[in-house]
This record gives sequence, C-alpha cells and structure tokens, in this order.
Amino acid sequence: MKTLYFDNNATTQVAQEVLDSMLPYFREFYGNPSSMHTFGGQIYRKIEEAREQVALLIGSDPDEIIFTSCGTESNNTAIMSAIETNPTKKHVITTKVEHPAVLNFCKHLSRKGYRVTYLPVDSKGRLEIDSLLQVIDDDLALVSIMHANNETGVIFPIEKIGHILKERKVVFHTDAVQIVGKLPINVKDLPVDMLTLSGHKIHAPKGIGALYVRKGTRFYPYLIGGHQENGRRAGTENVAFIIGLGKACEIAAKSIQKEVGFVKHLRDKLENSLLSNCPDASINGDKENRLPNTSNISFEFVEGEAILLLLNEYGICASSGSACTSGSLEPSHVLRAMGVRNTAIHGSVRFSLSRYNQEREVDKVIEVMPEIIKNLRLISPFGQERLTGKGYAS
Ligand code: PLP
Repeated sequence: MKTLYFDNNATTQVAQEVLDSMLPYFREFYGNPSSMHTFGGQIYRKIEEAREQVALLIGSDPDEIIFTSCGTESNNTAIMSAIETNPTKKHVITTKVEHPAVLNFCKHLSRKGYRVTYLPVDSKGRLEIDSLLQVIDDDLALVSIMHANNETGVIFPIEKIGHILKERKVVFHTDAVQIVGKLPINVKDLPVDMLTLSGHKIHAPKGIGALYVRKGTRFYPYLIGGHQENGRRAGTENVAFIIGLGKACEIAAKSIQKEVGFVKHLRDKLENSLLSNCPDASINGDKENRLPNTSNISFEFVEGEAILLLLNEYGICASSGSACTSGSLEPSHVLRAMGVRNTAIHGSVRFSLSRYNQEREVDKVIEVMPEIIKNLRLISPFGQERLTGKGYAS
C-alpha cells in the first residue's frame, strides 16, 4: 500500500538531492575538517559552503550560523546562552504553546529558581502583545517565542515583538523550526537575536539543526570542548548531515515562492472539503495567519486517535496533537491553552503537507474521511451524546 503522508510538521521525507549530496561524505570524503592535511581541509571548505546555503535561506551572514544536532539543541542552547550571559537576571518569558523543547527547558529553569512567565493565547491561538508588555521587567534575561506553532500553524508577530524587545534591550530568541522553508523569512527584517531551525522539517535528515546568532549578541556555548564552530559548539562536525542541511536550504531558497502556492492550494482543498462534508468539524487556529501547509481540524464527538487508526488502514498518515506527545493521550497543551472544548480537543487531527503531496492524495483523504467520521460517531459514546445533544463535560 502506498503511503499518503500528511504529517510533515512531525518530519519530512529527505529530498533525493539532499541524500545524493550527503553520500560522498560517509566513505569518500571522511576526513576530519579540523585536520591539517588537505584531505580534511577540503571538508572544512564544504562545511563553510553549507553555512552559506543556510544563511542564504534566512538572510543572515554565514558566520551567524552555528550547526547543532537538532532544533531541540538549538532551543536549549539559545535559552541557556541568554541565562549565562545575564547572570543577575532571573526572569524568562515564553508562551503556553511552545514546543516541549522550550517549555520543558523553561520548567527546568523554574526548578533552578528562575521565574518563568508563560504568555496566554486567545481562542484562535493568537498571542496578544499587550500580555507581553504587562510582564516585561528589569529582571528579564530572555524572551523565547516561537515563530509558528507546530500544531495549529498559527504565526506569531515576531517582527512586532522583536521591535518592542529591542527598544528595551532584552535578548529575544525565536523557535522558527516550523516556518523555515515553508514561508520566506529574513532575519534582516526580524529583530531577533537568535533563531532556531531544524533539518528534518525541511527535507534534510533528522539529527541536524542550526542556530542563528546575530552578530554582537553575547553568546555562551552549550557544548563545551573543542574549538569547532568558532568555539560556539564543541564536537566533531556531523559533516554529511551539515552538507545535507545546506542542500535542503539551497533547494528551499530556490523553490519556496512556487511551493507556498502549491501547498496552500492542496491544504485549502482538503480543508474546505472536510469542513463541508463532515458535520461538527471546525478549524483550530487563526485561518488568516497560518502556515500554508497546516490544517488542524476538530471532528467533535469522536476520538482523534480512532480517526488516525482508520486513516492508517488506507496508508494515510496524519497526527493528533504534536508528534512528540502523541505517545500519551494527554490532550494537546496547545489546544487547551486556546480554550478549545474537550469534545473538540479529543477529536482533533492535524494534516500537514509538503511539496511532495499530490492532488490525488488529497482526493483520497477527501473520499474516505466523511465515512470514517460517520462510522466512528455511530459507535462512539461521545457520538451518541452528540445525537442526544448532551456532549460531555469540559
Ligand atoms: N520546535 C518546534 C516548533 C518543533 O515542531 C520541533 C519538532 O517537532 C522542535 C522544536 C524540535 O526539533 P528537533 O526534532 O529537531 O529537535
């Protein structure tokens, strides 16, 4: 059975060109980029080329890019760097809807005695700037706010927030893992000090990421050891994966304008059809300000996990809540923060598309979903409650 993959916010297929670019670095060019000999030295130059490719995608200078092992490491590094370089400040601001790579790190900081403010979002998943203005104080070491949410695709006003924080000289980090490669961004227009990206969301492999650190930002390394990455991230470079990330960024930079329209067309077709043909379905998140590839839909009075299992029988991959938390049936912290009703949270499914989706794949989902929802409602106790108009307590 062919896999119909609609879970690209969880991870993406490695592009063939990316894989091809990486392969020589496992067996042919396996030298250590720090070595004195030409065999190693040539690899150093290739890493610098990859740095240029990443920089080009986000509009930075190459020497503002640090390669890391993943988005999680980039997020941890950014937060820890701000803490280390502002030793007298004990307040951190983030939001209630961050990825666990930020949220759980902030919880760790709370246990170490830091004061963490978690900004709320409204029912459409939007951040209210006023709530940020109210909590900025002189004790602030860092603000870390994601650029786009992984579950709903809602985009936060990072440019506006950045201007506010720059005026107040507060360090600002954004987790841009979900927006990089999906929409054009340029750090020249974004007043952020640090920005996280991750390879496996943009058709590079899992286990490679990068952190942008604006020139002049005080920085303290997270991994301490050798002098790699200009002393900003120790550890022998993951050469093949760095080359792959560079290639993925090069492809994204060239094709992003065209792909935004293509992916949005497919997403909108899927979403509009499901909303029309499945009763009691609604979008989670601000429709006007979302990633073009993401659709988070609640099918009330059914279990999202049951929907996923039945979709799976057709080879269709989607997600309920974020992939990183889907091992447990804890309701999504993002939808909870938005105040979504319990009956809707439990029936939420996220479809996330990429350049590799095809119209006929979307047509297949459109064909099977209404029947799946109808059948599940017939057997689900929640569906029965829908019929009797009771619902269940939220
Ligand atoms: N931040 C966001 C918004 C994400 O969606 C993810 C992954 O799902 C991460 C960070 C973590 O990235 P990685 O899997 O590369 O550690």
